Amino acid sequence: MLLIGPGRVITRDSSMPFLEHGGVAVSGDLIVEVGEWSALQSKYPGAEILNAHGGVIMPGLINTHEHIYSAMARGLSVKGYHPKGFLDILEGMWWNIDRHLTLEQTRLSAMTTLIDCVKNGVTTVFDHHASFYHIPDSLFAIEEAGKAVGIRRCLCYEVSDRDGMDKAKEGVLENQRFIRYALEDDSDMVKGMMGVHASFTVSDHTFALMAEHKPEEVGYHIHVAEGAYDLEHCQKTYGKTLVERLRDLGVLGEKTLAVHCIYINEEEMDILKSTGTMVVHNPESNMGNACGCPPTMKLVEKGVLTGLGTDGYTHDMLESWKVANILHKHHLKDPNAAWVEVPQMLFDGNAAIAGRYFSTPLGALKTGYGADIIVTDYIPNTPMDEGNCNSHILFGMTGRSTIHTVCAGKVLMRDRALTFCDEEQVNAHVRESAASLWHSING
Ligand SMILES: [Zn+2]
Repeated sequence: MLLIGPGRVITRDSSMPFLEHGGVAVSGDLIVEVGEWSALQSKYPGAEILNAHGGVIMPGLINTHEHIYSAMARGLSVKGYHPKGFLDILEGMWWNIDRHLTLEQTRLSAMTTLIDCVKNGVTTVFDHHASFYHIPDSLFAIEEAGKAVGIRRCLCYEVSDRDGMDKAKEGVLENQRFIRYALEDDSDMVKGMMGVHASFTVSDHTFALMAEHKPEEVGYHIHVAEGAYDLEHCQKTYGKTLVERLRDLGVLGEKTLAVHCIYINEEEMDILKSTGTMVVHNPESNMGNACGCPPTMKLVEKGVLTGLGTDGYTHDMLESWKVANILHKHHLKDPNAAWVEVPQMLFDGNAAIAGRYFSTPLGALKTGYGADIIVTDYIPNTPMDEGNCNSHILFGMTGRSTIHTVCAGKVLMRDRALTFCDEEQVNAHVRESAASLWHSING
């Protein structure tokens, strides 16, 4: 038995949304009780205590779109790289990195990214991986890191024809092998999906190959309309819009994640809604790549299940929230926009998306839910209650406010110290490996 408290508890459980002086009782990998701290202490006298020091206790955060493979880009300067647009960014930076990543570099990228997730209070990650230099076993290299770190993960390889049909097939087979592995695993810590890069780099032939090799229990994880080129290419080549093409190929559905959805029209939004397809918004990445602002508020209004991700730009979900909050106000010239929608995407949307893969209920502090719990060091300087706690998180915390991270009942970080590895030792390996990757890229 583990007792986490005392602190201000934000439960995301509508029957008891906020406790001023509360705690959470954990047994095994589940929450057994949430309540007043004094009552929990007398009820569970022998329990181990994780002292929350009066901070804020919340459900672990969920990131529904990550890119582990981009970890070693930090600080990298590619010779001759002066992008004029999104395709140049892909070709010159991201595809360049993934064409050089060795298996060990993939594993180390996963270690360092997942460590950063834990430090930012993220306990569940949906990753979209690319390492065209070495595809076979790349998801298993990430899985090795995932197991070592101990957070929940849903992995896939981004299939693409961009490096030829042999590589496309290798990607499909890697997904199939990993999905089967994850389906056989009963820990509820690992899941798999059929990853796809984007419509403009994948032929009908490769989509058919994916459909043939995809176990029916899972869906696709694909970038949709991230840049205008994706739409232009689709209209020119197939005579239809992106969402229409994906619908006709049987890609859409309740298990499929359509990421970005910037250049889609009203009719396509209705198709996403009617097929139950999930959408993930990544505000910082869209702005950083000068891709544009997606119609996210409209998607939420239409009832499309929409979540929030980071696209590898950051691993801090609260930073992603902060940027989405101002992006949509700025873009729509509406100071009322995004107050409700973005926290709804981060907390309800991401939990619902996770719920389509993980059996354990996640995203709330509630009896029977997965014990994925974080504590931050935030002490409010204005009154805080169930009605304004989102404002306190948005303006008062960052991911790095997290002091303890617990996933499936296991303490992964205690008082900002990782429990599962020597962080500096990992960093030293990653720095050395990144230097060698940069050398292989720049010659
Ligand atoms: Zn992405």
